[in-house]
Amino acid sequence: MSDSVLIIGAGVAGLTAAVELADSGVKVTVVERLATVGGNALDLYKAFPTDDCFYCFEGNRWRPGIRKCFYRSVLLDQPNIDLKLSSQVKEISGASGNFDVRIEVGSQYVDSKKCIMCGLCMEKSQAFSLISPQCQPQAVVYDPEKVDEGARVAAEECPTKAIDLDAQPSESTVKVSDIIVATGYHEMQPIAMDEYGYGRYTNVITQLELAKIIDPNGSSNGVLVRPSDGAPASRVLMVQCVGSRDENYYPYCSKICCIFALKHANILVQERENVSVSVVYMDIRTYDRHERYYRDAREAGVEFVRGRIMRVEPHSENELSVIVYDSLLDKYLKYTVDLLVLSSALEPPKGGSAITSALNLNMANGFIAPFDPVSEEEVVVGEHIYACGTALGPAEVPESVTQARAVVSKILQRRK
Ligand SMILES: Cc1cc2nc3c(=O)[nH]c(=O)nc-3n(C[C@H](O)[C@H](O)[C@H](O)COP(=O)(O)OP(=O)(O)OC[C@H]3O[C@@H](n4cnc5c(N)ncnc54)[C@H](O)[C@@H]3O)c2cc1C
Ligand code: SF4
Ligand code: SF4
Repeated sequence: MSDSVLIIGAGVAGLTAAVELADSGVKVTVVERLATVGGNALDLYKAFPTDDCFYCFEGNRWRPGIRKCFYRSVLLDQPNIDLKLSSQVKEISGASGNFDVRIEVGSQYVDSKKCIMCGLCMEKSQAFSLISPQCQPQAVVYDPEKVDEGARVAAEECPTKAIDLDAQPSESTVKVSDIIVATGYHEMQPIAMDEYGYGRYTNVITQLELAKIIDPNGSSNGVLVRPSDGAPASRVLMVQCVGSRDENYYPYCSKICCIFALKHANILVQERENVSVSVVYMDIRTYDRHERYYRDAREAGVEFVRGRIMRVEPHSENELSVIVYDSLLDKYLKYTVDLLVLSSALEPPKGGSAITSALNLNMANGFIAPFDPVSEEEVVVGEHIYACGTALGPAEVPESVTQARAVVSKILQRRK
């Protein structure tokens, strides 16, 4: 019988559990479907509640030191952690406490230990890209679906011979005693919601997309720009509850989108020059210690309009015209803006049902629910099966970390 642990998902929650178990001497296999660890927190720039980068990797190679690191950068070298990137769990069998897990390990086209991030391959072929300046491991990725003539040239000319275009996927089977599901959330892409024009107009973006634009490590070096032409943007309209609290999409409140919208509004009006922000809302829900983001925003001149967006249309090639119904004044307002930013619902991750069905987990609104609904052990979702972070529903980073630590403590206590 094995005493290793399987963790599915390498976002904040999965990584916290992995590092803390490994530091306690437990062998851990982490299966992450992307080619980088970090999940949705990879490009968040400043994080509430401290406005610091408290989930971070070591400074990236171009701007060393901009990201401080406490211990996550050791993840790749921690001997107790077997990190399987670009990988998926294919089958879980065996008994509780003695699981057999079959993992499909994706093709390793670029050897991350050899890649020195010189950028040559990205110049030669569009099949090579960088997921994020903060990606870990620090290496480019290759997408075979975008293969072009330049890809072979890149493979031949790569100075460290890091590229193998003929790499094949492999399979691995592990025996584990416990499984932690940390598959997180997905930010809804509201293409079907015609009234917002998302997917139709380039300057309609989501909050996660805005976070990438204002991150100093991003492609515009943190300057607020319009995706349509790359010109500086100055007029921003945000809209809350897009897809959340909506019986046609997700009936629940996504819990943290008021706070991250206010965080972004404050960054824009306080740290960028000549940017104005208006927020169209139904209610502002800044629970607990986050109320200060609302106070700060009001003091900094952010405009709040209680109402809904009625229509979005082009005003000029790079500007949008937005009609808002103000339910307090009972009148229609017209805004001309550079960016319309949608606070989209946090929805369950795509393709997660294969795992939740295989483990026979309880579900609520598409997220994982506790095994025993009346117990207070929300992280226990089955016999020797745990979940943490946003796999359990919308949550901020501190909550995700606390849940991951609760899982670790339960696993360790059970072994005493
Ligand atoms: C715009 C925005 C701003 C935010 N700002 C803040 C902030 O300032 N402060 C804060 O505390 N929180 C913030 N959050 C919330 C924060 O993103 C989450 O709390 C945190 O990322 C949750 O981490 P997680 O590990 O639970 O999930 P995720 O980050 O979603 O990680 C899940 C991981 O699992 C992987 N995965 C999924 N399915 C599978 C599968 N089947 N097999 C293998 N791997 C899989 C994913 O690829 C991903 O890497 C913000 C969220 C948004 C949308
Ligand atoms: S050419 Fe080679 S070393 Fe340079 S970025 Fe591409 S894979 Fe990495
Ligand atoms: S947190 Fe705010 S924006 Fe998000 S669904 Fe709830 S009320 Fe709407």
